Amino acid sequence: MTTADDKIDADVVVVGGGVIGSSFACLLGQAGLKVILLDASMRQVKSLKKIDTRVFAITMASEQILKKTGSWKRLQKKDIGRFRKMHVWDENGLGEINFDSASICQSTMGYIIPHQVIVDALQEELLELGSVRCLWSVSPAYLKEEADTIILGTEDGLRFRTRLVVAADGHNSKLRNLANIHYQKYDYMRSALGCTVFTKLEHREIARQRFLNNGPLAFLPMADSHQSAVVWSSSPEHIQHLKGLNKSEFHLELAEAFAHKLGDIKESTEKVVFPLSRAQADSYIKSRVALIGDSAHMIHPLAGIGANLGLLDAASLAETIIGPYQRGRDPGRLQVLRRYERRRKGTNRNMIYLIDSLKHLFESQHQPVRCVRNFGLDAVDSLPFVKNVILKRAMGLVGDLPEAARGKF
Ligand SMILES: Cc1cc2nc3c(=O)[nH]c(=O)nc-3n(C[C@H](O)[C@H](O)[C@H](O)COP(=O)(O)OP(=O)(O)OC[C@H]3O[C@@H](n4cnc5c(N)ncnc54)[C@H](O)[C@@H]3O)c2cc1C
Repeated sequence: MTTADDKIDADVVVVGGGVIGSSFACLLGQAGLKVILLDASMRQVKSLKKIDTRVFAITMASEQILKKTGSWKRLQKKDIGRFRKMHVWDENGLGEINFDSASICQSTMGYIIPHQVIVDALQEELLELGSVRCLWSVSPAYLKEEADTIILGTEDGLRFRTRLVVAADGHNSKLRNLANIHYQKYDYMRSALGCTVFTKLEHREIARQRFLNNGPLAFLPMADSHQSAVVWSSSPEHIQHLKGLNKSEFHLELAEAFAHKLGDIKESTEKVVFPLSRAQADSYIKSRVALIGDSAHMIHPLAGIGANLGLLDAASLAETIIGPYQRGRDPGRLQVLRRYERRRKGTNRNMIYLIDSLKHLFESQHQPVRCVRNFGLDAVDSLPFVKNVILKRAMGLVGDLPEAARGKF
């Protein structure tokens, strides 16, 4: 092990300053590790930022992790939508299911928060942490292992020696490619359209999802009682058709597809289109390299849990390396990193396949499958115990959770 500490520029270098990378850097910085965070994008003044219409459904476990990062207290009430109930129903037939957080003695099932608001809060927190150095418009160019360290070189000639490099640079991760870790991607040949809308009726803090023949359509309640985030998954042709509609045509089609549950659509923001895929890296770790968030896995947005899984990765990896670091051991050793991979890879894989099965079940047009689907929704709806088990898992209240997700660290 390299003994001279001055040879090390940082204990950990994090590549990617999205929600996952920034949360991870905050958790390490608070525990006293010296961190360098690189992001390829330009740090922008808040008011000049392009409008980002992505909105996240945040579980209770993620709320705890964001509290631990210190960013939660920076979120303003006007930005936090919450949902207490969830209503899911099928376009074909009468099957439906309702969840209510009161059934498990919780006042909230989860939160709906704009992605950019969370990133801004995390970046404000990072600016105040003396132990984390953030570098913008910087992208990695090579990795080189040397003795008990790894060197990360950047495209503009910077060079950092560290114990561990962490990829949090999203699904097209350059760092993952530099580390030669294969990413198995399956393209659903589907797209999602996202925007926020103002509706005539109040959402009453209920998250709603309707399974249409072409795919699911979700309305997620935002802080304003008339505003919802919409995620509509469908065939690429249908999504392109929706994207091309003018506002009034789009509002009519959307209200109709949603069975006018929230009345007329009064206003909407810019529509953004995302291709849909699922993916999993063959390995989450390599000598002195670890992957977290979308660089490690990608999941269908049907259940709105991609970032929630990523936050659990960030908290688990932080927990795994902080212990050895505080005992004076090398946090980048493969034996240490294996604990992280064992904890997260199987859980994420199971969740990806569970959501995949639900997607196929709800998109099937076969009559027998439709009958089973409708019967299944009603059957589960009438079984409070089963419903509560599903609810607790969806809220991130059970499972192998890192301490930070339980409100401790
Ligand atoms: C339509 C849709 C709806 C979704 N809804 C939800 C939801 O409700 N709830 C939920 O939990 N998840 C949701 N997700 C998933 C969620 O968006 C992702 O899981 C999450 O954004 C992953 O975060 P990340 O930080 O890993 O990656 P990203 O958000 O992609 O961030 C990557 C960061 O790395 C930087 N970067 C990229 N390349 C480089 C490079 N070469 N060098 C340095 N930096 C680089 C980028 O600038 C960026 O800051 C949704 C996804 C989609 C497509």
